[in-house]
Amino acid sequence: MKTKLEAICSYVLADEPMAKHTSFKIGGPCDYMVFPKSVDEVKNVLAFAKEAGVRVTVLGNGSNVLVADEGIDGIVLKTTELKAITRNGTDITAQAGARLSALCEVAKEHSLGGLAELSGIPGTVGGGVYMNAGAYGGEIKDTLVSSLILDENLEIRTLTAEEHGLSYRHSVFHSHPQWIVLETTFSLTSANRDELHKKTVELLRKRNEKQPLEYPNAGSTFKRPEGYFAGKLIEDAGLRGFLVGDAQVSEKHCGFVINRKNATADDVKKLIESVRKTVKEKFGVTLEAEVRYVKRNEPDAIL
Ligand SMILES: Cc1cc2nc3c(=O)[nH]c(=O)nc-3n(C[C@H](O)[C@H](O)[C@H](O)COP(=O)(O)OP(=O)(O)OC[C@H]3O[C@@H](n4cnc5c(N)ncnc54)[C@H](O)[C@@H]3O)c2cc1C
Repeated sequence: MKTKLEAICSYVLADEPMAKHTSFKIGGPCDYMVFPKSVDEVKNVLAFAKEAGVRVTVLGNGSNVLVADEGIDGIVLKTTELKAITRNGTDITAQAGARLSALCEVAKEHSLGGLAELSGIPGTVGGGVYMNAGAYGGEIKDTLVSSLILDENLEIRTLTAEEHGLSYRHSVFHSHPQWIVLETTFSLTSANRDELHKKTVELLRKRNEKQPLEYPNAGSTFKRPEGYFAGKLIEDAGLRGFLVGDAQVSEKHCGFVINRKNATADDVKKLIESVRKTVKEKFGVTLEAEVRYVKRNEPDAIL
C-alpha cells in the first residue's frame, strides 16, 4: 500500500510511532502516515482510502489527542504541510495545517486584532476549528467567518460560521467525523501592533508560569464543568500529584495530566477514570474529557 500512497501523495511513512506526533509523546504506530501538500493530494488519499475500505484519521499538531498504545489502523492524514496563510484587507485565510501561533503572528504583523488570546495554543487551524479552541476569554468562534471543507462525498463545500456549530470546545465536526477542514477565514479588526505584541507576550508569560510545559501533556484534560473549574475540583479532591504508572496529575496545575517520562495511554486512561470517579464521589460533578481518544479499529471519541 505504501507504493500506491506514494504515487498520490508527496510524503508517506509506514509504521510511524504516533508518540512522535502527539504532544503527550504517547501512542503506538499507525499503519501509514501521509503529509499532503495540496488539496488535490488530500482528495487523492481520501478517494484511495474509500475505495480500499481503509480508515483515515485526520491529525493536526496532535496537541489534543491521546493515541492508544496499540496505535491506529489505516492512514493518518497529517495536515501540517498545508500551511499557507494569506491576507485580504482585514480578513486572513489560513490552511488547516497552519499553526495557530503563525496565524496570530501574521495578524499581529498586519496590526489586526481578534486572535491574540489564541497565540499560545499549540495546535493547527484545523484542530482549533474542530475544538473551537479558546483561551483567556477568546475563542475561534469570535472571528471565524467561513471554512472550505471536504465532505464525505469528497466534495469541497463552504461552511458559514453558523454551520460550524461552534460552542464551548465543540463543533459540527464532532458529529461529522468524515468532514475535513481545508482552510478557514477569519475577520479581524484594526488594532495597534505594539499593544498586540504586549498582550501576546503577557499571555505567553502566564502560560509558562501556570502550565506544566516542561512535561509532555495535552493541555486541559477536562472541560470546564458548568459553575466549576476542573483543576480546582481535582485539587480539592486531594489528587494533586496523583500517579498511575508514569502519568500524573500535574503538581503545578491540577487541570493537566502530564507524562513524566514513559507513561502509556493505558496509564493516562486509568488516571483519568480514577480522577473522574473521585471527583464524582466527592462533589457530585461529572468531568468530561476535552482530550480526544484515538485507538485501533474504532472512531476517534471523547475519553
Ligand atoms: C500545552 C498545551 C496548552 C493548550 N492550551 C489550550 C488552550 O488554551 N485552549 C484550548 O482550547 N486548547 C488548548 N490546548 C489543546 C490543543 O492545543 C487544542 O485543542 C488545539 O486546537 C488542537 O489542535 P491540533 O492541531 O493539535 O489538533 P489535533 O490534536 O491534531 O486534533 C484534535 C482533533 O481535531 C481533529 N482535526 C484536526 N485537524 C482537523 C481538520 N483539518 N479537519 C477536521 N478535523 C481535524 C482531529 O481529528 C482530532 O479529533 C493545549 C494543548 C497543550 C499541549
